[in-house]
Amino acid sequence: MSTAQTSLASTALRQSLAAQLREFMPRSSVLTEEEDLRPYECDGLSAYRRLPWIVALPETVEQVGRLLRLCSGQNIPVVARGAGTGLSGGALPLEDGVLLSLAKFNRILEVDPANRTATVQPGVRNLAISEAAAPYGMYYAPDPSSQLACSIGGNVAENAGGVHCLKYGLTVHNVTGIKFMTMDGELITLGGKALDLPGYDLLALMTGSEGMLGVMVEFTVKLLPKPERAQVMLAVFDEIEKAGDAVAAIIASGFLPAGLEMMDNLAIRAAEAYAKAGYPVEAAAILLCELDGTSEEVSEGIAQIRTLLLKQGAAEVRVSRDEADRLRMWAGRKAAFPAVGRLSPDYYCMDGTIPRKHLARVLRRISDLSKEYGLAVANVFHAGDGNLHPLILYNANKPGELEKTEELGGKILEFCIEVGGTVTGEHGVGIEKINQMCLQFTRAELEQFHALKAAFDPRGLLNPGKAVPTLSRCAEFGRMHVHGGKLVYPDLERF
Ligand SMILES: Cc1cc2nc3c(=O)[nH]c(=O)nc-3n(C[C@H](O)[C@H](O)[C@H](O)COP(=O)(O)OP(=O)(O)OC[C@H]3O[C@@H](n4cnc5c(N)ncnc54)[C@H](O)[C@@H]3O)c2cc1C
Repeated sequence: MSTAQTSLASTALRQSLAAQLREFMPRSSVLTEEEDLRPYECDGLSAYRRLPWIVALPETVEQVGRLLRLCSGQNIPVVARGAGTGLSGGALPLEDGVLLSLAKFNRILEVDPANRTATVQPGVRNLAISEAAAPYGMYYAPDPSSQLACSIGGNVAENAGGVHCLKYGLTVHNVTGIKFMTMDGELITLGGKALDLPGYDLLALMTGSEGMLGVMVEFTVKLLPKPERAQVMLAVFDEIEKAGDAVAAIIASGFLPAGLEMMDNLAIRAAEAYAKAGYPVEAAAILLCELDGTSEEVSEGIAQIRTLLLKQGAAEVRVSRDEADRLRMWAGRKAAFPAVGRLSPDYYCMDGTIPRKHLARVLRRISDLSKEYGLAVANVFHAGDGNLHPLILYNANKPGELEKTEELGGKILEFCIEVGGTVTGEHGVGIEKINQMCLQFTRAELEQFHALKAAFDPRGLLNPGKAVPTLSRCAEFGRMHVHGGKLVYPDLERF
């Protein structure tokens, strides 16, 4: 078939599918016109764009089930999408598949203060859960910086983290129930309001599954009582390595702050210019360390950690005076990504995790790589979790600069693996880190991933091409990354 014929066939198939979807969904919930599809062409990783074939916005679980059955029957792939703030291309659409937006699933079904849980639909914004729980003196702990916009469905699919996950756990530790639909439109219920369930822990498996195993349609999440008091300390360092070592020392001391974040000079300057948080713009690095609990616990913690920070070489330690001061100190950190975005036409946000004792070493390596590639890198990250977010500044309009940026990003992730870390902390693999997965996992491990995917989605129709690389992709990638002269996957064909 010629290209023109293929395109005609695709258009006919699309019109036919759209007509079938409109039999059980309103016309306005099935988008096929280019101007309607354009807003869905990428997620937060905007370097990658693809116009979706069809966007569907169902409103009920029954509609999701019918859509999946229809697509399954015609072998049409489906990509689930929450708010599209993902930073690894997980919700990047397909040219020949349906983009299933969960945006209309935006209801909080129940807040149960006696049980300290909330039951919510997948399109509910992260922050909206805490807002709904606030009248009961409660909140939902995982707080990604994108919490104003991102959906709980995307949070669960990416196992999102945030400032307070150091003390209160990642999304996986805060979800007790999930309802999801298989590609054949069958509704499966995992867990509920109780804290444990027998059998394989499919609840944890679904958390972080990046839309590859099912489409999630409802969650039960834990709510926590608001702490009596919270205070933040800002420690100023003249060397970034000292700040890295101070993080390791705090963790080793056994004290568990509610949040422990680090920013380097480039990030401090950008955030200060943007948010006027009162940050010291000459500092090489700052640490923001939040303590919460009873009044006595916080007072004691502040005294101990101040001593420790000074011993680790902090030039100054400030403590928030009141709630307004605390929020102001955090405002700079929370606005750091958009603030860095003002420094250059584009930035690429990396996401790797390392053992915390190696923070200083990895930051030094990032600085060396930044010089080697001639690309500035700002660091603003969840230091307490060892979760790095190097932001590589580049200009996509300069020929070859995106490729150079991706290569530098790849080197950073490979160094994370080298020191015993992982290629993702919270943003998922998506398409962005798929090659590095070949370095992170052995062939046997990747085969287990594929077997697991096949158990849920035998024909590979859910979010194909994301998160888990094929072995032949690894062979291709392996050809480029030969370590110690040893070929990766030697038995696979090279091309
Ligand atoms: C400025 C900024 C700051 C950020 N800060 C953080 C941070 O601090 N911590 C953090 O963890 N992340 C952060 N992120 C990344 C992003 O916000 C999170 O990954 C978030 O969880 C994505 O949610 P979403 O609703 O936008 O999902 P989307 O981007 O729409 O989708 C993400 C993935 O989830 C899948 N998915 C979505 N909904 C469903 C569903 N119902 N069923 C099955 N699969 C589904 C999609 O297929 C895709 O693979 C940040 C992003 C930005 C832009």
